[in-house]
Amino acid sequence: MRYVSTRGAAKPLRFDEVLLTGLARDGGLYVPESWPRLSHGEIRALAGLPYAHVALRVMTPFVEGAIETDALAGIIERAYARFDHPAVAPLREIGPNQWLMELFHGPTLSFKDYAMQILGGLFDHVLARRGERVTIVVATSGDTGSAAIEACRDRAAIEIFVLHPKGRVSEVQRRQMTTVAAANVHNIAIEGTFDDCQALVKGMFNDPGFRADTRLTGVNSINWARILGQTVYYFAAAATLGAPEKEIAFSVPTGNFGNIYAGYAARAMGLPISHLVLATNSNDILSRFLETGALRRGEVEPTLAPSMDIQVASNFERFLFDLYGRDGSRLAQQMAAFQETGEITLDDERLDAAKEIFDGFRLDDAGTVATIGAVHEETGELLDPHTAIGVAGAHAHRRDPAVPMVSLATAHPAKFPEAVERATGQRPALPEALADLFERDERLETLANDLGAVEEYVRARAPEAKVA
Ligand SMILES: *Cc1c(COP(=O)(O)O)cnc(C)c1O
Repeated sequence: MRYVSTRGAAKPLRFDEVLLTGLARDGGLYVPESWPRLSHGEIRALAGLPYAHVALRVMTPFVEGAIETDALAGIIERAYARFDHPAVAPLREIGPNQWLMELFHGPTLSFKDYAMQILGGLFDHVLARRGERVTIVVATSGDTGSAAIEACRDRAAIEIFVLHPKGRVSEVQRRQMTTVAAANVHNIAIEGTFDDCQALVKGMFNDPGFRADTRLTGVNSINWARILGQTVYYFAAAATLGAPEKEIAFSVPTGNFGNIYAGYAARAMGLPISHLVLATNSNDILSRFLETGALRRGEVEPTLAPSMDIQVASNFERFLFDLYGRDGSRLAQQMAAFQETGEITLDDERLDAAKEIFDGFRLDDAGTVATIGAVHEETGELLDPHTAIGVAGAHAHRRDPAVPMVSLATAHPAKFPEAVERATGQRPALPEALADLFERDERLETLANDLGAVEEYVRARAPEAKVA
């Protein structure tokens, strides 16, 4: 299996190379040269398997020629051994043919753990074989950072730097990052928004000297292995609910378009997904796009679902690549235009193709609080604000009541206790492993939204500098 850049100008790479490269040298994102397909028989055979076995079957074709099956199986087993539910991604029925898939049973309580724990193991394996060390930089709107830190902490081959927007992540989220006492972990609060943090990371990748000197690599969802790790639970849920004989729909709380793009990938691999509900908060660039065909950047507005406070969704480019017939140079022109003007518009044919797969949905903070309250009243279930947006989207976009609708529960309610308490009067408790989170010491640095300052900070602490 080889991977190509969405902008067509970087050379195709193997899986292990893509893992370490992150963003392609032409500014594009890597995608598989073609989609491997699972037959109906292969999908049927996933039902009832342990989650780790489903993961192995789904991921194997993507790592071919780069990682042996035995090594991959070990990485997967170790990744999910730390999860606190035997099913790893359990399904709960919350209404007639309506399901919640709980993706918060990893060490940092969000769905990000499901791919990130795999990524940590993959990095260790590939770096050990090559005898290399790397610098990881990652931008976070809240949950990616802690998931990346838990996946990379105390790994000798990795120095990790996490940029979060100062004051714009919840206290639980911040403490999950800043209280980790590992020498290879560096937390940076940036005076700016998540989009600023993401732009700083892109800026570091687009600085060839800095990139080479620090052996820079990324674990944001621009890294293909993140998408791959997230594809697995779509297969696991669908096989449990009757695929391939039955179609399944999913509702996905969306920010950077990584999670929902993994659902799109599962569909491209042959999973019978009827449609995907693209649920956003007030930062609704993507749901507006599905209404109008215009992708138009706006200002980021802080909401109760901060992990979705994003205007520029990196992974959307991967979907656009397919919409533009996988013509990288054509897409490169479109992305350059978007960079310059903050807007691109799709023709009707492409928009219709997008609408066949995706239903857009938007919910503001008042609607989010109301949904958390209503679901609690009806089912006793406490939803975090991100999950609530997805559940509301699922209600609004049942295309066919006979098709099971699965809402992805992307975070544990205790990650966002204020919003949950406001809606239900109940304050959700943190799981035992995190019960003393508020007593632990914090470590972090605050830096201006300035590429030079951030590069200087990272350079001084990169693996080569540490050795010297
Ligand atoms: C990251 C995150 C999202 C958004 O996922 P994307 O892949 O960025 O679209 C939604 N909910 C939670 C809780 C998250 O942490």
